[in-house]
Amino acid sequence: MIMNKVYLSLGSNIGDSFYYLMSAISMLDKLEQTKVNKISKFYSTKPWGNLNQDDFINCCIEIDTKLLPYQLLKEINSIERLLGRKREVFWGPRTIDIDIIFYKSLKIETDKLTIPHKFYKKRNFVLIPLIDIYYNKKNLYKYINKNEKLQIFEYKKKIGISSCLLGYNVKYNGGNNFTDLFVNKLKLDYLKLCPETLSGLKSPRVPSEILGKKVFSKIGEDLTEEFELGAKKTLELIKKNNVEMVIMKSKSPSCGKDLVYDGKFEKKLVEGNGITVDLLLKNNINVISY
Ligand code: SF4
Repeated sequence: MIMNKVYLSLGSNIGDSFYYLMSAISMLDKLEQTKVNKISKFYSTKPWGNLNQDDFINCCIEIDTKLLPYQLLKEINSIERLLGRKREVFWGPRTIDIDIIFYKSLKIETDKLTIPHKFYKKRNFVLIPLIDIYYNKKNLYKYINKNEKLQIFEYKKKIGISSCLLGYNVKYNGGNNFTDLFVNKLKLDYLKLCPETLSGLKSPRVPSEILGKKVFSKIGEDLTEEFELGAKKTLELIKKNNVEMVIMKSKSPSCGKDLVYDGKFEKKLVEGNGITVDLLLKNNINVISY
């Protein structure tokens, strides 16, 4: 099956909007058979339709996906739900809004889904970011309302990222988890973080898992103190660098968020956070799991 090129518009105007946008992009990037190719600039925009609400941050992305339009819509609805979107007021405030603008050259018009999106020609907050990344920009310029300017939103802080995701050989097995992270498509400053290295543990090392409130290596050493020290040092580094958002490697006993291995070394996941992520969340640092 071939990949389909799809353009999405994303917006948020509740809470830390940049974090919600980054989380949504990360979740889209992790969907099965889907890859985020391009991310537009981010823009601060005035509300549309219902004016009595805070300004939005908007962007557009290009993805390649094997998901069919209704499968993609289902995944998008689930991402919106997971990120706390509540559909209480029509065109009202929202943590995240994701619209399918184009799905290849498909035309769909049903109660559930209209592609191309019904209002894209009337919305500068869709057109302007879309022009940043769309292959056929000329077709879009003519719809732009020249009286309405958009301000570029620049994220000025560093983003903390698990060192192993960046390709540093700090994993227990001496390797890394290098990933072509979606954030590489943005010109953001980052701070590399490896709690287990900061704790003084060497690479390679015996793998560890969380069991209850403690951390044990596969050969039964209690490494709780080392993992807690790594968490503390990571938090200190984050505070020193004024970081408010981190992207951490999933499932790890330090960096995992929501799911970690169960402590029996049988590759079974249970609900819970890694020791570092737990501490970061308690200190109001936004964590994106990758
Ligand atoms: Fe990667 Fe985190 Fe483990 Fe370091 S502690 S190797 S950054 S998952």
